Amino acid sequence: MTGRYLAKLPPIDIVPMGRVTRVPDWLGGGFSDTFDVRSFVIHHPGGPIVVDAGIGRGDALIDELYEPQTVDIGDALAACGVALEDIQALVLTHLHFDHCGQAGRISAPTFVQRAELEAARAPHYTVPEWIPDGDVRPVDGDFVIAAGVEVIATPGHTPGHQSVVVEADGGRAVIVGQACYRAHDFAAPEPVPDCDEDSMHVARSSIERLRALAPAEFFFSHDNQVLQME
Ligand SMILES: [Zn+2]
Repeated sequence: MTGRYLAKLPPIDIVPMGRVTRVPDWLGGGFSDTFDVRSFVIHHPGGPIVVDAGIGRGDALIDELYEPQTVDIGDALAACGVALEDIQALVLTHLHFDHCGQAGRISAPTFVQRAELEAARAPHYTVPEWIPDGDVRPVDGDFVIAAGVEVIATPGHTPGHQSVVVEADGGRAVIVGQACYRAHDFAAPEPVPDCDEDSMHVARSSIERLRALAPAEFFFSHDNQVLQME
């Protein structure tokens, strides 16, 4: 786990990035009909670290299937006091279209699990043009990206899903991403992963690993609730 290199936990902003207003029946997974999409900014002393990059624009198939309301990432981050050119690092929890869509707008080093980059080559996995191709730093497992900030591999929802742990003497925050869909399911005695049947086992292990980081604050990609677990 991360060294306690930060004296104080940096503020973390939840960044609204829009909404998917329609979910095809074959993709519902029983979770919800529509959902919010959000990114996060860790206001790190070395410069802002952004987690996830929302839905992209201009893909006819995505527009037709999901009817997304997309927020411009430059505007969304400006509202948090962050300019795109000041970003220290971008972390992508995974490469589904609603998490990597505007990654190309950010030129900072971009951390993605190598397993995710490989998985994303499969047809219909994501919008290929939205996979970042700039300063991409493939990660194998856990990796410290800045003082007190570590990405940890949490596969299940996708083969290369990762979460972010922020740690300081004053406490710990965990950006779960989509390793679990809802805070409620994360906190349940039998946590409910968001994945297909074949990945249940690995997804449950990832949630167990994340829960073991309590006491901490937990943030979720598609649930507004910030969960405080003791
Ligand atoms: Zn996803």
